[in-house]
Amino acid sequence: MRRQRNTKILATLGPASSTPERIAELFRAGADVFRLNFSHGEHADHRQRYEAIRQLERDTSRPIGILMDLQGPKLRVGRFADGKVTLTQGQRFRFDLEDRRGDVTRVTLPHPEVLSVLTPGTELLLDDGKLRLRVEASGEGFAESTVTVGGTLSDRKGVNVPGVILPVEPLTEKDRGDLRFGLDLGVDWVAQSFVQRPEDIAELRRLVAGRAAIMVKLEKPAAIEKLEEIVEQSDAIMVARGDLGVESPPEDVPSLQKRIIAMCRQKGKPVVVATQMLESMIVSPQPTRAEASDVATAVFDGADAVMLSAESASGAYPVEAVRMMDRIVARTEQEPSYRRIMDAQHPEPEETAADAITKAAAQVAHTIRAAAIVTYTTSGSTALRAARERPEVPILCLTSKLDTARRMAVVWGMHAVETPDIDNLAEMVEKACTIARQDDFAKPGSRIVVTAGVPFGTPGATNLIRIAWVSEDR
Ligand code: PGA
Ligand code: MN
Repeated sequence: MRRQRNTKILATLGPASSTPERIAELFRAGADVFRLNFSHGEHADHRQRYEAIRQLERDTSRPIGILMDLQGPKLRVGRFADGKVTLTQGQRFRFDLEDRRGDVTRVTLPHPEVLSVLTPGTELLLDDGKLRLRVEASGEGFAESTVTVGGTLSDRKGVNVPGVILPVEPLTEKDRGDLRFGLDLGVDWVAQSFVQRPEDIAELRRLVAGRAAIMVKLEKPAAIEKLEEIVEQSDAIMVARGDLGVESPPEDVPSLQKRIIAMCRQKGKPVVVATQMLESMIVSPQPTRAEASDVATAVFDGADAVMLSAESASGAYPVEAVRMMDRIVARTEQEPSYRRIMDAQHPEPEETAADAITKAAAQVAHTIRAAAIVTYTTSGSTALRAARERPEVPILCLTSKLDTARRMAVVWGMHAVETPDIDNLAEMVEKACTIARQDDFAKPGSRIVVTAGVPFGTPGATNLIRIAWVSEDR
């Protein structure tokens, strides 16, 4: 089974998409990676979804990526006596640590370390920025503020403090428990939320200890200031436009998206564009023109993947949303300007054997009109360098490691296949041709470009490029 596009699709699972049948439908419609969002749901729900995906993998013989998304240190107000209050512009409102329900004059903000850094003039954004308050005074365990944009505030709504590096632990107790659970299940990727500084990633990396790859969510302006370092320390990046668009003005989001994607492509790290891509499909079977255009923009930017959140997790049209995304992506990639943009934005190869070989492979594939590039890889690192080339033809990633094959599901242009290691040149060509034919990438008479490392099976040793003919009998 092959996809007719390079840009991948991530679909978040939730109440609208939890039965094995529905998950299989989402996969057939185009979902390459499933996201388990640990901001919602119980462990038992996530386990069920996980098992359904692995069963689907066995049924389809295709590696499928599973991303667990940690909630991270998201700030929330406490509860209200009446469940909600209405705040009006100009009124005073107090945040404190008191253990009682809030009213129109005050609410609990159960984060003492945050209260202590709120200085006069700091802006607080509540409920995704719908309400705005300005801090007037603060002291031990409280902050007084004035409402600058009013509205209704209900129980447990989120609080964003843009422009301030908050002294919060990058992983909460809940995150640590969720992480243990997810790693034991066997997730392929872990997404870290609200990263503020490069150092925030180190602790997660220590805890994960190589059992999964790390996707850092960029949703704080402070993180953008350390963009290069953060990209270097992560295995992939998510442009988390939901919180990013609350913490920074909406007009900044498109430029930030472009800057983040450019940095990731430079470094050869996969990058996912997320949030509100087909938002109206939560309630409608059709997206708006602007949403279709937003998905296309991410594709033209050269993103590895685009993501659905509530559209697939809790909306009324989860399968339709994936199908629509698949259509928009495929159609956009057929546009001649797409290829011209990919070529024009091409990053220079680094001075390594892997880059020399993968760049040559992309060129050879162009010159001889090859059907595919086939890379033998153990860790996936050579396959990632091949994807960094954004070649004209699909990349088949052949690996003996199922973990690697699953992780590659998020990567641009990549079709990963788990297959035992090879031990000689004849076998290398034979297997590459057979799999390219079986999986519908090549026909008899097609040529493919194969890269590998000799001695075979040595990680990081890519040093060989070979052109092979696909013949009738294999
Ligand atoms: P979330 O992250 O869906 O976990 O909030 C994505 C975003 O903020 O865009
Ligand atoms: Mn977020």
